[in-house]
Amino acid sequence: MTPPDEDSLIRKDVSALPVPPNLADYEQARASFRWPAAARALSGLPGGSGLNIAHEAVDRHAQGARATHVALRWLGKDGSQRDFSYAGLAAWSARFANVLDALGVQRGDRVFLLAGRIPELYMAVLGALKHRCVVSPLFAAFGPEPIFTRMSIGAAAVLVTTTGLYRRKVSALRERLPQLRHVLVVREEAGEPLPVGTLDLAALLEDAAPQYRIGPTRPDDPALLHFTSGTTGKPKGAIHVHEAVVAHHATGALALDFHPEDVFWCTADPGWVTGTSYGIVAPLVHGLTLIVDEADFDAERWYDILGREAVSVWYTAPTAVRMMMKGGAASARNRTFARLRFIASVGEPLNPQAVTWGLEAFGLPIHDNWWQTETGGIMIANFAAMDIRPGSMGKPLPGIEAALVRRTADGGVALLAEPGVEGELALRRGWPSMFRGYLGEEERYLKCFAGEWYLTGDLARRDAEGYYWFVGRADDVIKSSGHLIGPFEVESAFMAHPAVAEAGVIGKPDPVAGEIVKAFVALKPGHAPGEALRRDLLAFVRKRLGTAVAPKEIDFVAALPKTRSGKILRRLLKARELGLPEGDLSTLEPGA
Ligand code: ATP
Ligand code: MG
Repeated sequence: MTPPDEDSLIRKDVSALPVPPNLADYEQARASFRWPAAARALSGLPGGSGLNIAHEAVDRHAQGARATHVALRWLGKDGSQRDFSYAGLAAWSARFANVLDALGVQRGDRVFLLAGRIPELYMAVLGALKHRCVVSPLFAAFGPEPIFTRMSIGAAAVLVTTTGLYRRKVSALRERLPQLRHVLVVREEAGEPLPVGTLDLAALLEDAAPQYRIGPTRPDDPALLHFTSGTTGKPKGAIHVHEAVVAHHATGALALDFHPEDVFWCTADPGWVTGTSYGIVAPLVHGLTLIVDEADFDAERWYDILGREAVSVWYTAPTAVRMMMKGGAASARNRTFARLRFIASVGEPLNPQAVTWGLEAFGLPIHDNWWQTETGGIMIANFAAMDIRPGSMGKPLPGIEAALVRRTADGGVALLAEPGVEGELALRRGWPSMFRGYLGEEERYLKCFAGEWYLTGDLARRDAEGYYWFVGRADDVIKSSGHLIGPFEVESAFMAHPAVAEAGVIGKPDPVAGEIVKAFVALKPGHAPGEALRRDLLAFVRKRLGTAVAPKEIDFVAALPKTRSGKILRRLLKARELGLPEGDLSTLEPGA
């Protein structure tokens, strides 16, 4: 089955790109890429004492020519701005590492972060990595129970948070978290009293020395603990090691086309893996200027930042793009984005309409890429110099071998080599940012592998040119009258209709067909639900998809339920439709 947009192509003229791309020739880059050589592009700790993410991200630049270059420009909600040079960030993170040391925190202890995008969060992540602790950033909007679950699974020894978040969400949990030894808080109001049982982070940093010598760090020492988004069920705690920085560095160059003078903005919160791998580590390892916006999504604010801060590379997510699309392209076209040259997106399939909307709004297509918490870094991408097939997630990165497989009864896999065949996306194990376990769930971890292959739980297909097309999560795929239907394809057909802002598609059990396709549709401003529009939509998608794949039912909704990382929660749409238990909703965005 060929989706309607598979034949369209956005051609790239390499000689017309504003800077020469790092990956100019895909096949050649694949043929010559080797992970050991990629590792040698990093410095390593002085004296050959290993590999540490924070050394690569800040200290080596602070000791070199980039010392005074702006590493992080922080934009406050209230319009304030703070710049940190590489030397400054190295000193602040050193202070934080010394604070941990003075408190008796040990190598391998877990340091959790529960805060908005405030400067102290970035100091703490880097400082904790210097002290060889395992860092786990949580999303500040989590309620007490999701916080408790993650901190107890992770046996948090230290928590960095704010006074308000502590009072509202953590203080009542304290007795249930016996391993939690220190809570370091940032005051929300100047001069406010500290909650009982917490320490004043500002005062501790002030008293700490701004130098810290990172101890020997093995490449396979644990560094980060990231909980998955929980789109399919209960979130899993994926463990990543210091060596992941090799992949952060390589993928920053290849998939995001980082160049030394770039100003890079990753809109993801560090509570999700994207906000750490690419919202902190990768751009700093490259010595770039990283933009951090404390505020939540607001289309006008975002356009302002892209223009005013002269952002050159922008990494965002389909939900954000769809929200910007809702307002139309005019807002963007009335402005200038003088330095913007590369836009990428991750987290969910990017509808073809969103790819081409980028052209309308910014004069640049949006480059979809695919990865997971478990993979630690970008695995499949649309590259700056490669033609785009809108709706495709691109091709595997150099150093990454992808395949489509079918699981066999004996626990192995059969490779599906024919173009166009749908199968489970698998990756040959061994890249540096591959997760090394699900904390406390060894069996679940082992189940992700069949021999040399890591099985992703996502279904995809590859076309004859080697582009990968996302079909759906294995759990979301619909089986209707002998057809396997990926919800994304149906949702994209809806997205092509001018009245549709978003669509979520599920399979609903049916005695005859097995399952029928049901769609939930949210409309753009200015369009009202009604029978006429329903019929119009049905006819519109039937024409694009054919009757076997087109939905039989459409419900209009004000908004779709999403995770806080912006992914459509199809399992919740389905549970609600069928009146079944709603399952783990710890990552549900409120109001949906
Ligand atoms: P859980 O595993 O707990 O259900 P999750 O899979 O949503 O949560 P993440 O690791 O944050 O948690 O998300 C990775 C998943 O997001 C991928 O496996 C895939 O299903 C989806 N995804 C990410 N990028 C893309 C993309 N470009 N196109 C399609 N799907 C994507
Ligand atoms: Mg997952």
